[in-house]
Parts: sequence; C-alpha cells; structure tokens
Amino acid sequence: MSEHIDVFEMARQQLAIAARYLDLDDGLHQVLASPQKTLIVNFPVVLDDGSVKVFEGYRVQHNSSRGPTKGGVRFHPDVDVRETSALAMWMTWKCAVANIPYGGAKGSVKVDRKQLSRRELEKLTRRYATEINIMLGERSDIPAPDIGTDAQVMAWIMDTISMQQGHTVPGIVTGKPIALGGSEGRTEATGRGVVTVMEEAAKIRNLNLSDARVVVQGFGNVGSTAAKLAEEAGAKVVGISDALGGIYNPKGLPIQELFNRYSGRDGGIREYKDADPVSNTDLLELPCDILVPAAIAAQITKENADRIQAKIIVEGANGPCTPDADRIFDDKGVFVVPDILANSGGVVVSYFEWVQDLQNFFWEENEVNNKLTKIMRNSFASVEQTMRSHKTDMRTAALIIGVRRVADATVTRGIFP
Ligand code: GLU
Repeated sequence: MSEHIDVFEMARQQLAIAARYLDLDDGLHQVLASPQKTLIVNFPVVLDDGSVKVFEGYRVQHNSSRGPTKGGVRFHPDVDVRETSALAMWMTWKCAVANIPYGGAKGSVKVDRKQLSRRELEKLTRRYATEINIMLGERSDIPAPDIGTDAQVMAWIMDTISMQQGHTVPGIVTGKPIALGGSEGRTEATGRGVVTVMEEAAKIRNLNLSDARVVVQGFGNVGSTAAKLAEEAGAKVVGISDALGGIYNPKGLPIQELFNRYSGRDGGIREYKDADPVSNTDLLELPCDILVPAAIAAQITKENADRIQAKIIVEGANGPCTPDADRIFDDKGVFVVPDILANSGGVVVSYFEWVQDLQNFFWEENEVNNKLTKIMRNSFASVEQTMRSHKTDMRTAALIIGVRRVADATVTRGIFP
C-alpha cells in the first residue's frame, strides 16, 4: 500500500464523527481522544546464542470509566505506540458496544516472533510481563491474546505475575489454557462472533449464507475460525490468505483441510495446489459476496476501496478499513459491519473467562457459546436500530453507542478531584 496510514489519527477521526452526532462537549471529547496511561518499556533478553537484544514494548490504557481496562497483547515487528493507542481506544468502544464492564487497553512488543526460539519467546514474555506489571491487575488491567500471542503466552504472563504476587492469579489474564482457568470456547470466540454478525448482516441484505461466496484475509486465529464456521454455516469460502499470500478457487476451498495440513507450515496455505495463487492485496478485490478482512489494520483504503466487489464486509481485524474507504463504501452501498461490533466475540468470552476465574466456577462450552451468540445478536440489533434512527452507517452507529456509554460513565463519575 503506497500511503502511510496513521491508525491513531484514524481512530481519532472516527471518534470525531461520533462526537458530532452526540454533540459531545469539547472537554469530554478531549478526554476520550487521549489514552489515560501509556507505558513504554525497553527491556533486554538474553538470546540462545548468549547475545543480548533489547526489545521495545508498550501498554496503553485508554479509558477506565466503565471498569478495569481490557485488551490484547500483540507481538509484531511493525507495532508502535500510536498503533497500540488506537487499538486501546477501539477496545474501549468495543467493550462499551458489547456492554461489558470494561474500559480499553492494548499492549505490544516490537518483535518478529518467528525469529525467536520457544525459550526466547518465553523469556521475552516473562520480562515484558514484569516490565508492565505496574499497569496490570485482575481489577485494573487484564491482557489477552492478539496477533502473535496465544494461550501459551498468556500462561507465561499469568505464571510470571503469580510468582511475583506469591499466589496464583488466574484473573490477571484471559485467553489462558483451559487447565489454568481458561474458558471453554475462548479460542474460537472471535471467529464465532464474526460469523454470528455475518449471518445477521446477510439477513439484512437478503442474502442466504448457504448461497454466499466468502473471502477471508488472514488465517490466524480469527480468520481461520471464521472461515471454518462460515463453511459450516453453508457458505463457500472462495479465497483465503495468510501472511505469505492467498489462494482462490471459485468452486470453494476445503478450509478444514487447509487448516489441518497447511497452517503453521513454512510455505503456508499457498502450498495447496488446487487453487490460483493471489497476493494479499488482490485477494481483497476477488469476486465475492462477503469479505472478511481478518489480518491487520489499514488494508482497505481510498486506493482500493473502489475495486472491492463484496456487498458485505465483516471486519474480523481491528481497523482494516480507513475512514476514506468508509466514505467510498457508503456511496457504493457496501454494508460494513465494523470491528468494534464484528470482532467483539473475543473480548466477550474474555469477560466470561474473567467472571469464571473470579468466582472459581466454570461453565460448559454450550453455555459460553449460547451466551456469546446472544450478546452478539443483541449488540448487532441495537447498532442496526441506531443506524436506522440516525440514518447513518453501521460504524458510526456502533461508535455512537460505544462513545455515548463511555461519555455517560465519565460524566456521571465526574472529574477527580
Ligand atoms: N485482542 C482481542 C481484541 O482485539 C481480544 C481482547 C481481549 O479479549 O481482551 O479484541
């Protein structure tokens, strides 16, 4: 992509749009436009060859008016403090739209995890957790997985903090392995939520999911689960990609087989031969009914939005479409289910996990999935209703709901002292 996109600026532009609809007071707008707390850490790790490497990491808490801050930890070479701040702000709106009692946060470390051995990854995780420990707490700030992190990384964070506190603190982190107080259904939760709102959006567009062609950008946790569940719901997944590139077959791709045989392999899903190779950018422009960008931010911009053929876009990733792209989609009549609604399934089940940890009382998978589906459908319905009453698009409607809830909490609590 030629233009550089500052995603924090993008998040602020989205907030400004909601602020106009809500006629938000200037001071309050300023409060919501700035992250509450930002910690930047530089910490050393002794690598396997004995050399020392310093890594830069962040933890940003955007707003805690509605409760402890919540949000993932990303390990990726391209992260920076502005992106992490944008992601923290989006977490605030996301939790508010789902109406779960959290504010938003995000953490990240600038690292290519593929370059690290397992031992190095563990050391990096434990040291990063120690550095940001002053921000964390099961009542103050609770991390979870994001790009480049997983249940094992969460287990190391939980163990590190528990060692420092002298007792086991399962509620300090979510997305843990089940054996350590993780929740049934958490790993699939984001993808499951994506497909639930996909079904709702399809109904609005009079599209039958079993006749729909779906393209998914990304084959990480969100993309692969969304693709599998969309296939299970009867849709034909015609295109999919991982970090190395994509594949396309208009007759449909065997998602479960791709997952079992190609995910995690050096060559990635491009090693599957019964499909045409496509680049990650061309993939977005393939003929399809539903597009699920489930990789990284700013993939769909004013440069390529016009060429997107999908009728519905369901944002599995955080921030995949820029405000310029939104305007183009508005003109073209493309229905965009925004990230802060579409991918909220992950944090919703994180909330269930946290509640289970605090109560030491665990639920069955069915119960988790049913409660998740109910929240996703309710959130979709209230965003849709706001969209109609304000005659706007789904993103603006979701922001109106999210920002209003946070603004109300901030005003009701008052400004200390
Ligand atoms: N990283 C996920 C997100 O962006 C999940 C956050 C969480 O569960 O706290 O929504």
